[in-house]
Amino acid sequence: MNMGLNDRVAVVTGGSSGIGLATARELLRNGAYVAICGRDANRLAHAHAELVGLAGAGRVLAVQCDVLESGQVQALHDAVMAWRGGCHLLVNNAGQGRVSTFADTDDAGWREELDLKFFSQINTIRAFRKTLSHDGAGAIVAVNSLLAYQPEPHMVCTSAARAGVQNLLKSLACELAPAIRVNSVVVGLIESGQWRRRFEVRANRNLGYDAWLADVAARRTIPLGRLGKPEDVAQAIVFLGSSAAHYITGARIEVSGGLSRQI
Ligand code: NDP
Repeated sequence: MNMGLNDRVAVVTGGSSGIGLATARELLRNGAYVAICGRDANRLAHAHAELVGLAGAGRVLAVQCDVLESGQVQALHDAVMAWRGGCHLLVNNAGQGRVSTFADTDDAGWREELDLKFFSQINTIRAFRKTLSHDGAGAIVAVNSLLAYQPEPHMVCTSAARAGVQNLLKSLACELAPAIRVNSVVVGLIESGQWRRRFEVRANRNLGYDAWLADVAARRTIPLGRLGKPEDVAQAIVFLGSSAAHYITGARIEVSGGLSRQI
């Protein structure tokens, strides 16, 4: 399939780890120029070095940026414009989940989570909107969670915020059409930095990382029998962001190994 990504310019927020880094690799393999951002300078530098090794220094830009800081997001946009003079694809991936029930989430926790989920979309879309619409074929792909449709009580505010983001994306698919397509991937459980961090603080200390992941997959009864890999999500993101999906907007692709229970 021709993805039509050759020499297109993509920005991947949270491109220094996990799903974002795998997406950056996949975009580079498809001939795109890729800018990544993240907050931690070391993690960003490691990711940048790896991507340069894959595609060459001229193909990759790394900018330290917290997507919750609108000034930093504008600076990211300006750096991409100075680098390539345009941007065709925005992958809104930066973020993390919050494990907490209603009983143990205070107001500050709610506000922090709502802020992260909404403003990681709002700030970047506001900054890149004009640039993305320039040639009439821009695309936004948001990384969201199955929790938007299948809430979990132990991740109560993440679930609620994720649902709101899907609603926002649907409105944006109308408002930004036809110049910009807006789609999402809703992911289940994907092996990444997040799961590595949860492993570090696990209750059951008897299992190694792989056995612990296999146990998570078994307990959650994932039909395909394992957690997803970041690459599994990257393929779907690249498809939605490519010209192969040129008549698709306001849509979502589930990448969950069959974990979803809705029809
Ligand atoms: P990782 O922790 O591996 O990667 C998260 C990336 O986002 C890192 O590059 C991190 O860099 C960056 N990031 C986090 N907060 C910010 C911020 N405020 N500004 C800029 N960059 C930020 O996790 P995943 O790859 O798993 O996560 C990718 C997305 O997928 C997230 O939105 C996550 O919530 C979502 N998701 C993942 C699931 C999973 O099972 N893995 C399940 C459901 C959703 P740094 O910390 O240096 O800023």
